[in-house]
Amino acid sequence: MPQTDIIIIGAGPAGLTTGGALKHVGLNPVLLDKDTVVGGTWQRRYDRLHLHSVRRFSGLAHDPLPRNLPAYVPKDQFVEYLQNYAKKFNLDIKGGCSVKKIRIAPNQQWDIETNGDTWQSKVVIVATGHYGKPHIPDWPGKADFKGKLIHSIDYKTGREFAGQRVLVIGSGNSGSEIACDLAEQGAGYVANSVRTHPPVVPRNFMGTPVQVFGIMMNPLPPKIADRVGSWIARIAMGNLAPYGMKPAQWQPFTAHRIPIIDVGFVGELKRGKINIRPDIERFTPMGVVYVDGTSEDFDIIIAGTGFQTGLPDLIDVPNVLDERGYPAFTSGQPTAQPGFYFMGYTESVRGHLYEANQDSRRLAGIVQKYLNG
Ligand SMILES: Cc1cc2nc3c(=O)[nH]c(=O)nc-3n(C[C@H](O)[C@H](O)[C@H](O)COP(=O)(O)OP(=O)(O)OC[C@H]3O[C@@H](n4cnc5c(N)ncnc54)[C@H](O)[C@@H]3O)c2cc1C
Repeated sequence: MPQTDIIIIGAGPAGLTTGGALKHVGLNPVLLDKDTVVGGTWQRRYDRLHLHSVRRFSGLAHDPLPRNLPAYVPKDQFVEYLQNYAKKFNLDIKGGCSVKKIRIAPNQQWDIETNGDTWQSKVVIVATGHYGKPHIPDWPGKADFKGKLIHSIDYKTGREFAGQRVLVIGSGNSGSEIACDLAEQGAGYVANSVRTHPPVVPRNFMGTPVQVFGIMMNPLPPKIADRVGSWIARIAMGNLAPYGMKPAQWQPFTAHRIPIIDVGFVGELKRGKINIRPDIERFTPMGVVYVDGTSEDFDIIIAGTGFQTGLPDLIDVPNVLDERGYPAFTSGQPTAQPGFYFMGYTESVRGHLYEANQDSRRLAGIVQKYLNG
């Protein structure tokens, strides 16, 4: 049974920044990742993708994204940065190592069962991400649909769907950008089914990245910050109601959620290339019936319906997860179990990568103290 002091499960951006921050304080973690490629989650994402957050606030701990990269880094350059980061910090990453279970072991240690060895470690840091299991709801009639139904994780480019009738279900950043990509790449007809209307903000406002406003306004009372955010959105985007978007049904600061960052969606909406539709009631063999009773036929349906963490299957440890299967403790902070930590689960308008960087530096100090007794 291999034995070590610190194991990080997951070598995505959150695991890597934690690895870098630990190395920075002289500790030597082992990172276990089921992927064989560093940056694999980003490599597999859709072609159009650039970071939505700005370069300056998207780098990992102790090694910012290079200044010669564009302000919004294309995904392939981000993958290259992640791979260079792993090399620079000489991170000990065991690729192709899928963790099956984490359990409490005797003597304040952790058993980490993988597809190969079972590791034992004094500290375990779970950084497997929000996006463990793609989720497609069980809509009535789904099995009868004769067209193609895919999850957004399997979408690569709108070029594949030129001339076709496509429905995107869901209104997160991925769903909106995919709808935009489909419209830009010549899909015959694009509809976007929206259950809960999100806030939509510009990527830049008056020459400043909107993420910078998010960071600056974070200390304000959430309701006030949300009011300023709505005002910015209204000035930048105008009234989207004539194009089918209702007033936002949640607000980023009070809900701790990232708004839709517009990277072309609003332009296509205003050009009439994206048609906003209500929630789905059921599938039919040819398409869907919406909750308002109207129906449409589609060749392709893309479910931008989110993910589950997969953490309940992975973690056989009491009192660390909440009832939704999310960490019950803040990333980078101690949990109810000494030596057990989460990384990369902080959702905020400051950006996931920004938070992971901050959380990893804090966690490095906490782990150092823990190991020194
Ligand atoms: C389309 C899209 C765009 C985004 N753009 C931005 C952005 O611009 N700015 C920003 O701040 N955030 C962005 N995010 C959010 C977030 O920053 C990224 O998703 C980021 O990749 C999350 O990093 P992570 O390390 O937490 O998770 P992941 O990138 O998902 O990495 C998790 C790692 O854990 C591994 N793993 C999982 N389960 C196991 C297991 N059981 N055993 C071993 N290994 C395992 C995986 O193989 C993977 O390598 C975006 C998210 C999406 C979906």
